[in-house]
Amino acid sequence: MAKTTKKKDTGEKKSSGKYLVIVESPAKAKTIKKILGDDYQIKASVGHIRDLPAKVLGVDVKNNFEPVYEIMPGKDKVVKELSEAAKEADNIYLAPDPDREGEAIAWHIQSILDKPKESIYRIEFNEITKTAILDAVKNPRAIDMNKVNAQQTRRILDRLVGYKISPILWQKVGKGLSAGRVQSVAVRLICDREKEIEAFVPKEYWTIGAELAKPKSTNSFVAELTKFNGEKIEINNEEEATKVVNTVNDAEFKVAKVTNRESKRNPQAPFITSTIQREASTRLGYSVKKTMQIAQKLYEGIDMGSSGPVGLITYMRTDSTRISDEAKDSAKEYIVGHYGKNYYPETPRVYIKKSKNTQDAHEAIRPTYIDKSPESIKQYLSSEQYRLYKLIWERFVASQMESASVKTISAEIEAENYTFRASSSKIVFDGFLIVYDDREEDEKSKAIPELTKGDVLKLKKIDPKQHFTQPPPRFSEATLVKTLEEVGVGRPSTYAPTIATIQDRGYVIKEEKTLAPTALGKTVNELLVKHFPNIVDASFTADMETKLDDIAENAVVWQQIIGNFYGPFAEVLKKAKEEMEKVSILTEHNCTNCGKPMALKSSRWGSQFLGCSGYPECKTTMPLTKDQKPVPEDKPSDEICEKCSSPMVIKYGPYGEYLACTNDSCKTRKKLIKKTGVNCPQENCAGEIVQKKSRYGKIFYGCSKYPDCTFALWNEPTGDKCPECGSMLVTKVSKAGNKIACSSKECKYQQAVENSSQS
Ligand SMILES: [Zn+2]
Ligand SMILES: [Zn+2]
Ligand SMILES: [Zn+2]
Ligand SMILES: [Zn+2]
Repeated sequence: MAKTTKKKDTGEKKSSGKYLVIVESPAKAKTIKKILGDDYQIKASVGHIRDLPAKVLGVDVKNNFEPVYEIMPGKDKVVKELSEAAKEADNIYLAPDPDREGEAIAWHIQSILDKPKESIYRIEFNEITKTAILDAVKNPRAIDMNKVNAQQTRRILDRLVGYKISPILWQKVGKGLSAGRVQSVAVRLICDREKEIEAFVPKEYWTIGAELAKPKSTNSFVAELTKFNGEKIEINNEEEATKVVNTVNDAEFKVAKVTNRESKRNPQAPFITSTIQREASTRLGYSVKKTMQIAQKLYEGIDMGSSGPVGLITYMRTDSTRISDEAKDSAKEYIVGHYGKNYYPETPRVYIKKSKNTQDAHEAIRPTYIDKSPESIKQYLSSEQYRLYKLIWERFVASQMESASVKTISAEIEAENYTFRASSSKIVFDGFLIVYDDREEDEKSKAIPELTKGDVLKLKKIDPKQHFTQPPPRFSEATLVKTLEEVGVGRPSTYAPTIATIQDRGYVIKEEKTLAPTALGKTVNELLVKHFPNIVDASFTADMETKLDDIAENAVVWQQIIGNFYGPFAEVLKKAKEEMEKVSILTEHNCTNCGKPMALKSSRWGSQFLGCSGYPECKTTMPLTKDQKPVPEDKPSDEICEKCSSPMVIKYGPYGEYLACTNDSCKTRKKLIKKTGVNCPQENCAGEIVQKKSRYGKIFYGCSKYPDCTFALWNEPTGDKCPECGSMLVTKVSKAGNKIACSSKECKYQQAVENSSQS
């Protein structure tokens, strides 16, 4: 009671509650609350509060494309809360994220508050730190309608394309399908790549490596054949390769030329949205969606014990590599203090703008407090947050550091008329590499000995290898982001949602980290390419992005942009409605009832299943797995139902395989546990190793007696023991081929998998 009174007293003096700050996320609200203190009331809108209605178009095409907004479902309570808080406040600061999306959220909030515009301000900051927040509050501004209009235009264009094309697809292909502006371009890129891969004809070629050593040395190195009679050589078949091998086998290998070169290796620019998505995908294996979710938490604030929530990184949706002067200064201080003066470059590094599209006065993604090193705050972070923060912190620090000096030695070695070449690099000064080593593995390991012109080397082994040229690889999430950025389709805020959408729609599936088009994706893409060439055209879509920039930066009239688009689009729509052929996507599966091929169909909710192409005479349907394969038939199992003792079968459900009781009146279901038949190696443990799934869906192998026994492995045990150390052997699955290896970290033992089918 006393506490309340006291608070009220302070309030009267300092006019508590007279300032209201509205942000879009509760976590952000908490972090800002800690900075601004009790004089400010902080409220969260929890994302957008108003949007176009879901059920109808919501754009008045005949009335200059006027959008019709409505309070989003479930948001009435928040709106009421915000309105009530606003009534009490004299000054309202709208503080959603510093981009067009945030500007639009601010504008929507302003529109629903019953307050004079003069008392509502927009404040903007790139990081949630005391300095940045206080500075923002000191410099409030009006809402920037140009930015709002750019966002509205994107929303309206997306809506027109989606809501006008999708019904045509429902009619001609199947229910529940959708088309989208940026999304359809992404699907097309993936389909085009697939066609290239399918059309690719591999070409044979050979390489010939010579393993060489100095006469008295055991240290050998490999030189590759590069020239014949001074001309670049191509070896196309075994016959040609054998000819070379026979000639050089008895030849003298003599060093003809040694070149020493010292070069600089520069650090990369600090992260922007696209590069962090790529790097986290490559280095940490995170999907772009996951990376953005983790980054958002780091930006909005992580609870750090007694210091409360702290915003650890700058805003994560950005295409600018700019670094603020303050951040540059503290980086210098940190680098000189921790690594020494020679690790800081003579002049501070400046990264030029990534592209002309760069939005606003943004900054790169960097740590807000450089002295919060990843190790020093590890205890407050989840392991995923730690790994991403470490990546951001190291990349930023490295970006401000001195270049590495690399000495490259290359040697040309002649044998008869053939020239072999070997090279290796040595780091003379590590520079930024001390923090962020971005070298490839084989770059680090290759080394050739000190060689002098005229040295005669001994040939230890000649190694001809057959190769075939490879088709271009499928896109991964990481390379798709790179390509979207390069062709100018989408913006930092759209990469992650676009990639999620095309997978959710069943147009693309992830196969071992690569994106493959489904039959449905290919069919819809073909129809769109034929009937809506502009919509799936990358440069048309990129051009539209530039026009959106023009609205935001140069106050171009947005209705005009939409008008210019809509005229021709309406024509194409009309034609497509008449001319688009009805298609049925036949599969290689046949109907179990009438034998006709099964066709891929979509339900009203957009999920796929197989339906007999003999419909309506035959109404057979078959469910599909997430990968659009027919759901496998029930498989027998050894399990007996605990409740009724009937046998159980393995069924396939939306979340994968599970066990179900065969007794219809029992309905017992159970998680399917894959047994390995291998006993737990822990002393005095009677458990068995079974397959399990981690919280994040990754498969691992653990003891069946968990939690009493916590023994676990990432790979499946073979049941055999390591001949070198006695630990369990496991099968390691990889693209390069499976192998059997020791499960002990200290032991390097491994062997090839015996594979009888290998020819
Ligand atoms: Zn049938
Ligand atoms: Zn049962
Ligand atoms: Zn055990
Ligand atoms: Zn071992």
